[in-house]
Amino acid sequence: MAGRADSTVLAGARVVLPTGTVENGRVTVEGTRIAGSAAEDARTLDLSGHWVVPGFVDMHNHGGGGASFTSGTVDEVLTGIRTHREHGTTTLVASTVTGEMDFLAHRAGVLSELVEQGDLAGIHFEGPFISPCRKGAHSEDLLRHPDPAEVRKLMDAARGTAKMFTLATELPGGIDSVRLLAEHGVIAAIGHTDATYEQTVEAIDAGATVATHLFNAMPPLAHREPGPIAALLEDERITVELINDGTHLHPAALELAYHHAGAHRVALITDAMDAAGFGDGLYQLGPLAVEVKDGVARLVEGNSIAGSTLTLDTAFHRAVTIDRIPVGDVVRSISANPARLLGVYDRVGSLEPGKDADLVVLDEDFALKGVMRKGEWVKEPRIV
Ligand SMILES: [Zn+2]
Repeated sequence: MAGRADSTVLAGARVVLPTGTVENGRVTVEGTRIAGSAAEDARTLDLSGHWVVPGFVDMHNHGGGGASFTSGTVDEVLTGIRTHREHGTTTLVASTVTGEMDFLAHRAGVLSELVEQGDLAGIHFEGPFISPCRKGAHSEDLLRHPDPAEVRKLMDAARGTAKMFTLATELPGGIDSVRLLAEHGVIAAIGHTDATYEQTVEAIDAGATVATHLFNAMPPLAHREPGPIAALLEDERITVELINDGTHLHPAALELAYHHAGAHRVALITDAMDAAGFGDGLYQLGPLAVEVKDGVARLVEGNSIAGSTLTLDTAFHRAVTIDRIPVGDVVRSISANPARLLGVYDRVGSLEPGKDADLVVLDEDFALKGVMRKGEWVKEPRIV
């Protein structure tokens, strides 16, 4: 029968399901999908001593493998996607950095084709509608106030593939832009912001649902001026992005966010730039020069952190081994939550029959051993 030869049973592993972890569990793969039961002639792969978890979903990522999603050719963008896949990210949203409006509209066209052919899950515009006070690694002279007409222009250029905009919602036009995005089912993310607590609450009430890399590029938490961090952490409507690379956040800040928001409201992201999965050296982030040294990316001028060189397998490993977050909670925040936010949880984000066979095999120390995407091994586990 057609498809039967493609049937594989992954057996003997600890399998993390939405309902909990199953010891000595089985995942059956038929063709590109997870199946409820195995064909008689199914091949069995013994994964005793390993974990099988859903493929990772990265909703904030600027590049990798030496390639930039903001400026690379289609082949370079595909190299970046492949690099992150080899590290377990089976669903990826490409993030752009601040550029000229016409340039970003052009990029939206290029990236939208990769969304349409299934290589990307969408586009995230980070900038230009952000605050000069919290610009991070974005070119100050290209920043603009959020203008619903310009947001609309980028949405149209992306032909329905825009999934998220990061905005400094306190700027003129910010709240109207949030409303426009929410009306169109596009995520309005609060980030690179200088907002007060009250201004942040107003943006959440207008429809913002994500905190772009919580703690980074926003005013710190202070007792008389709690700022955006308190407003974003306390509101059930917000999912907080966290960059767990050990550079952007102290482990105590990450644990505080997990404990206060709850694992159902955390999305682990990379915010990776070109050097992820590639190495130290000189790079460009949009128009700005970046030097990567010992895996830390900083602007050559100003020394600001300029994205990460993180891959999600490392974020997972750190969360479990350093931050002591329970495995099931890490799986929620690295797969299920971002998949839900992106509107693709019916296809990915958990190991359930009917969904894409996107999964990651980890050894007992949580080192990545295998990655499968749509039923095909991107990285085949070598089990001895
Ligand atoms: Zn970013």
